[in-house]
Amino acid sequence: MCADFNSTGVKIRPCPLCGAMDRKIVLRRGEWEIVECLRCAMVFLGSELDYSAQAENYDWLEEYAKEVTRRKQTQPVMLFLSRLLRPLRPNTNRHMLAQTLRWKRSGNLVDFGSGDGGFLALAARHFEVTGIELSPRGVQLSRQKLPPDAILEGPVTQIIDRVCSENSFDVVTQFGYIEHEWNPLAGLRSAFRVLKPGGLTVLKTPNYSSWNRHIRGPKWCGYHIPAHCNYFTPRTLAQMLRRAGFEPLPRPLGDRLPTSDSLWLAARKPFSGGSGGG
Ligand SMILES: [Zn+2]
Repeated sequence: MCADFNSTGVKIRPCPLCGAMDRKIVLRRGEWEIVECLRCAMVFLGSELDYSAQAENYDWLEEYAKEVTRRKQTQPVMLFLSRLLRPLRPNTNRHMLAQTLRWKRSGNLVDFGSGDGGFLALAARHFEVTGIELSPRGVQLSRQKLPPDAILEGPVTQIIDRVCSENSFDVVTQFGYIEHEWNPLAGLRSAFRVLKPGGLTVLKTPNYSSWNRHIRGPKWCGYHIPAHCNYFTPRTLAQMLRRAGFEPLPRPLGDRLPTSDSLWLAARKPFSGGSGGG
């Protein structure tokens, strides 16, 4: 554990995009504060847990179940409507695969934060797949669907640089990962390093600039505190991708609607000239 963390594994967190400490509070829940950077407008959780405290006390699959229970109590009508409309929404894993196939049809794919392995099991029909997952429960569920050695257990930023060699993947998928990552820029730099020149990363994260977030305020479905520690707009995500060396790709019209709570973005590692630094 880093010396900066206190006895419960918590420390003050600088802006994950520009490193500044100047901030204003946009939302408070219990001991947690969501803040906006006064320098670059990145929105994020103002304090941070170390990975072991996160894995032990805030396992995402358990946290998600808790959040659903909380919403059942505080927003029963919204939850009911959301469930009613679920059959009309595209299957999430299929949608993630379609978003990936739009940019790359085959090759080596690594999925950051591979969860229960549902997406990877589908992607394995088109790609050679590897998954990295922090949640021990997620790893266990994934290994029931995929060859066990295709799933690596631990924090992405610690595992990938150790296990995966430079220029070895065609695609890095990050669906519902970057909002959980305490070091999102380090995660993107790792993605950059392991991608071949011309390789693609495809991301999905809650869209902080969605209309729904403006309308529903603190009750917005994208807030999961402290599980979600980064809240991106298309602008801040593109900016972070550029800092990692990527070229964000133009977003298809259907992905640009502010009515969507999800932000989809793809970016390319340039064939030459990308630094991965900056
Ligand atoms: Zn900032």
